[in-house]
Amino acid sequence: MSATLVLVINSGSSSIKYQLVDPVGGHALAGGLVERIGEHDGRLSHTSGEQTVEHLRRIENHTAGLRLVFDMFAEAGQDLAAAGVGAVGHRVVHGGEEFSAPTLIDDDVLASIHRLCTLAPLHMPANAAGIESARALLPTVPQVAVFDTAFFHELPAAARTYAIDAKLAREHGIRRYGFHGTSHEYVSGRVAEVLGRDPAGLNQIVLHLGNGASASAIRGGQAVDTTMGLTPLEGLVMGTRSGDIDPAIFGFLQRSAGMDSDAVDDLLNRNSGIKGLSGVNDFRELGTLVERGDAAAKLAFDVYIHRLRRYIGAYLVTLGNVHAITFTAGVGENDPAVRAAALAGLEGFGIAVDEQRNNTRSKVPRVISPDGSPVQVLVVPTNEELAIARAALRLVRPG
Ligand code: ADP
Repeated sequence: MSATLVLVINSGSSSIKYQLVDPVGGHALAGGLVERIGEHDGRLSHTSGEQTVEHLRRIENHTAGLRLVFDMFAEAGQDLAAAGVGAVGHRVVHGGEEFSAPTLIDDDVLASIHRLCTLAPLHMPANAAGIESARALLPTVPQVAVFDTAFFHELPAAARTYAIDAKLAREHGIRRYGFHGTSHEYVSGRVAEVLGRDPAGLNQIVLHLGNGASASAIRGGQAVDTTMGLTPLEGLVMGTRSGDIDPAIFGFLQRSAGMDSDAVDDLLNRNSGIKGLSGVNDFRELGTLVERGDAAAKLAFDVYIHRLRRYIGAYLVTLGNVHAITFTAGVGENDPAVRAAALAGLEGFGIAVDEQRNNTRSKVPRVISPDGSPVQVLVVPTNEELAIARAALRLVRPG
């Protein structure tokens, strides 16, 4: 096995997603998902080449989950510990003020990641657990943290600052951090390649529409605004998250509905958005309900599109002159109805979507605007794992 391979780990609260990536060739050799860690009905699904193996058993904790993953690789003839991988790349949700780039993990960095748990209590403890487990299992392999916030670290002050008491904000690290940065950076880089343009000369809007959703405005490869804030709750309407709401709703619910802060947090993160309005959070199910004439589903779709268009409008003004608007992630890559509705009626801004191109299913990056359009509209599949693997390899093998 070549030591230029990178094991990419995305460790969630009860799951571990992983891929063994060839960053140079640009593809994954194997990957899988460990689910329901800590529950009695744990599950591992591992795919290598054409073969998928499943295991159902109790998986005590993240270390046990990762050990099982290593066993899967060994069974498939890829002994990670013995043959060695060049690096392990960890997706870390929050880099706070401290981390603005991929970082080699040592004890100090790990301690900082633990300190950042207060900013993302749902994600960071799991990220740290993944790192600790991987360090224990592969003690001689360099481990690299790739932060979801890093691409937005240098947002202009006006875009990153909340208009609240400045001293309080400073004390508590309250600012707009932005998330999905690895995806926004990767996709905007791919757009420049697809268009054959120098990224330095491109103004772009990237719409990452998955379960979580965020938009960014990028000028010359540098993010100048994004929709997510201190946490990944702000901005667009998402599968289960409300996105922007009047902040007073939080206190109002506490006083009027007797909900405590955890209950409101849970409501806005897990039971709002498309799910809160329609009962389903998957856009495939939403589309079926809309076709059947379900009024709640139609409203959910309309609210989603309304918010999306509001930010597209905002970023057109922020950038002044936009060369490319790109859809990515599960919904953005696969749902032509969302793409068409998001950009309908914008011909006056030089923005149009070719119906046939939009409706053609494909896994490759493509332009869906008509030939000669002033603004290029694209669909570009994201690949956060590849971006993490490349970032990790760049750090451990510069040049
Ligand atoms: P995550 O934020 O979890 O990484 P993804 O980017 O994988 O999410 O997006 C998952 C979402 O993509 C699903 O919940 C679903 O709404 C949407 N999706 C996936 N496939 C399709 C499809 N063919 N048509 C419409 N939506 C889709």
